[in-house]
Amino acid sequence: PSAMREVILEVPKVNWEDVGGQKEVKAQLMEAVEWPQKHHEAFNRIGTRPPTGVLLFGPPGCSKTLMARAVASEAGLNFLAVKGPELFSKWVGESEKAVRSLFAKARANAPSIVFFDEIDSLAVTRGKESDGVSVSDRVMSQLLVELDGLHQRVNVTVIAATNRPDKIDPALLRPGRFDRLLYVGPPNEVDREEIFRIHLQKIPCGSDVSLKELAELTDGSTGADISLICREAAVAAIEESLDASVITMKHLKMAIKQIQPSEVQSYQK
Ligand code: ATP
Repeated sequence: PSAMREVILEVPKVNWEDVGGQKEVKAQLMEAVEWPQKHHEAFNRIGTRPPTGVLLFGPPGCSKTLMARAVASEAGLNFLAVKGPELFSKWVGESEKAVRSLFAKARANAPSIVFFDEIDSLAVTRGKESDGVSVSDRVMSQLLVELDGLHQRVNVTVIAATNRPDKIDPALLRPGRFDRLLYVGPPNEVDREEIFRIHLQKIPCGSDVSLKELAELTDGSTGADISLICREAAVAAIEESLDASVITMKHLKMAIKQIQPSEVQSYQK
């Protein structure tokens, strides 16, 4: 039995314009991922090595995954995504094999990005097995081997994401591994306006819909909350009338009342 479902290879179709706010993180991601892959001669000439891995951290629903996909798409890179917990198998040896084959696939499909969501999950399973080495220890050592092996390559980049940077194994953060840390925070009012614009683009809106007012009404909401609000508003409009052809402020305000903000303010950076 394989430890992991077959990792799907894709070139995502997400543009930078699909991500509201996050200007600084977008710029940093381009610099860390797109530049080295596109201009590797320049990096070689200057004799400097770009970062091996990028760690995106911050509260849930604030576009870590979305931006990892966007940078792959914008730079035209193949994208292999895996969630931390998927790497675990109860079968001895299978988990390490899964990590090895993931990186083999990334190299075979370079230029590429390997995206690890929920990377913190690698630290949680500390239940020791009879030989005294836990599955997570073995997955971790294999991951470190693979990361260190990428050292001289510019055409495979690893990006990891976590809501819990405090739980990350410090070994992962050493130079040459995940050595670029980027905080992906909650949207401010201007950002929320942009996120509403993005998510309402595909929904016909009545003339009373004010993006500015929507942004004002959603303090504490994440991008994921806003995406949900827009979908709920569309459902509310249909529920009200099957002939509905637009959504109005009334529907959006109803949805805002329903979808509580994710209280990202409590997040400890
Ligand atoms: P998690 O930690 O829960 O995995 P995340 O930070 O990776 O969260 P995403 O999965 O990228 O968050 O966001 C979920 C969804 O919320 C996105 O697919 C998108 O629809 C919406 N979203 C979040 N942030 C933004 C944003 N800045 N602009 C536009 N849409 C956003």
